[in-house]
Amino acid sequence: MSDLRELYQQVILDHNRSPRNYRCMCDADRTSEGHNPLCGDHLSLYVKLDGSRIADIAFQGEGCAISKASASLMTDAVKGQTLEDAQSLFGKFRDLVTSDLSTEPVVDGIGKLAVFAGVREFPVRIKCATLAWHTLEAALENSKSPVTTE
Ligand code: ZN
Repeated sequence: MSDLRELYQQVILDHNRSPRNYRCMCDADRTSEGHNPLCGDHLSLYVKLDGSRIADIAFQGEGCAISKASASLMTDAVKGQTLEDAQSLFGKFRDLVTSDLSTEPVVDGIGKLAVFAGVREFPVRIKCATLAWHTLEAALENSKSPVTTE
């Protein structure tokens, strides 16, 4: 397990250092702002839709390694997915990071997002890890009000 934990940390650090899909998207169909006051994480999310599919997605923002890596991995994970699949992935991700420590983490069907299993041990970080997802949900629902984890 310690090898796995080290691998997970490396993936998170890598995505923090060089976040994927990190850019402004001026012609986005949907944009949303997310804020986690507890940690100071802030991100802007841009989504381009093709019918009910996420054709392209990008983000910009400032925050801790967990929030940035989570946004980076999320954009990679949902790009090209249907809105339904993206919602379902969010459900699995939320279940993973909020699951009880006494249970085995369920990582089936979430691919690289499994690296956030370690967040379970740091409850204060759960909001950092889910911020990007809540922001995505707001963007897909076309909500105009900024997302806050508080
Ligand atoms: Zn944070």
